[in-house]
Amino acid sequence: MTILYNPHTLTGTETLVFDLDDTLYPHGHFLSDERFFEMLSEFGAKQNGLTLTEAHALTAKFLSEGTKDCMKSWQENHTFDIEAFAKHIDSQDISHMQPNEQVKKFLNDWQGRIVVFTNAHTTHAERLLEHLHLREHVEHICDYTTRGGRMKPEFGIYEELMTRINEVPTNCVMFEDKHKNLEPAKTLGMQTIYFWPEEEEYSYVDRWYPDMPTWINNLKITGKTEKAS
Ligand SMILES: [Mg+2]
Repeated sequence: MTILYNPHTLTGTETLVFDLDDTLYPHGHFLSDERFFEMLSEFGAKQNGLTLTEAHALTAKFLSEGTKDCMKSWQENHTFDIEAFAKHIDSQDISHMQPNEQVKKFLNDWQGRIVVFTNAHTTHAERLLEHLHLREHVEHICDYTTRGGRMKPEFGIYEELMTRINEVPTNCVMFEDKHKNLEPAKTLGMQTIYFWPEEEEYSYVDRWYPDMPTWINNLKITGKTEKAS
């Protein structure tokens, strides 16, 4: 499956659909999944007068039951102020995260359309894209808040995104660090690219790369980057 050294030409591609976290910046540079769920448990503990051990056990239970949205599981079973938690996430220090010149240049030079499709809330998406100097290159952001709390990989939101931006899936390439989120994209007809530190094969993943700069280094584009040539 590895096509790492078989250059990606992006022929026929009009729109690039990027996940945000761990996709447009290096894996783990903001919050690891582990740290995110720890923070979620700490917040749940505070809101419900529980011990940290009790809160961690609840989060683990929701995850083991296969919840798609752990915040909603907390909210349905106890008290959990999702907006206040979003503000807490927005208060995390990101000063160590540096804009990547190669990623900036690629997004700047791309003559097609660029969309961000994230499970994060609006203010997080805006804050990180600004911080990484990428915001001006993004035409549309589809996020957790504006979708009314619905998350990838829910199939319907992929179709709604295509309608919203007036695009057909076969003109799109989607980029993700969560392989499961690529499955609906592939079903719809998008090309799928998986950024993950180690190579893993999935039927719905067309190409794997460890990160975005490696993908850029292995591109062989014809058209769509006139400013770059
Ligand atoms: Mg991600």
